[in-house]
Amino acid sequence: MEPTLPIMESFHSLQGEGAHNGKSAFFIRLAGCNVACSWCDTKESWLEQQHAKQSVLTLAKYTAEAQREGASFVVITGGEPLQHDLNPLCKAIKDTTSTINSHSIPIHLETSGVYKMSGTINWITLSPKIHLPPRKELLKKCQEIKVIIHNEEDLLFAEEMAHQASEKEKNSGSDQEPMLYLQPGWKSEKGKTLAIDYVKKNSKWTLSMQTHKWLGVA
Ligand code: SF4
Repeated sequence: MEPTLPIMESFHSLQGEGAHNGKSAFFIRLAGCNVACSWCDTKESWLEQQHAKQSVLTLAKYTAEAQREGASFVVITGGEPLQHDLNPLCKAIKDTTSTINSHSIPIHLETSGVYKMSGTINWITLSPKIHLPPRKELLKKCQEIKVIIHNEEDLLFAEEMAHQASEKEKNSGSDQEPMLYLQPGWKSEKGKTLAIDYVKKNSKWTLSMQTHKWLGVA
């Protein structure tokens, strides 16, 4: 039987955050999250039973269609996508896009890093949460770290995550350190002020804004 996943939504838009901000992307938002951040802006994603399932092949076909219309990558997000085994979805996307469009689309993942890694992913955005820190393997593998800022404690946590990621890189002999982003919590005036001040004084960090929300696009 074709594997299925609970889906909140899938849509073609612009990436609004981090290193790929402003680029055309197809989003697959999986339902289900047990991380339970108090400030979560997608709480409706938490209960996967409330969302219909779709086959990975259908999702892969939607992705191929978006690729034909200009999407340069697909973002698997949530919820917390790693609550699911992402291997069947990633395989279906690679196979379908390379068959229909002659080249496979890069796959990006947005995760808190709490659960075990699965799937073949080209770009990992790790958004670690202070109350449930990420697994070491995700700190080692990710291409960018994005910490949401609401208060001073979040800045200390961000530095701790950057430190752990750079220690991991030294130990693995790799010279690739993740890109570092601070993102103010949505509508958090304090978070905005703290993040801007911190980035001004600490050049290794870059400010990430949720530009899709400011622009009013999906
Ligand atoms: S990990 Fe993401 S989806 Fe889950 S509770 Fe936190 S912010 Fe919400």
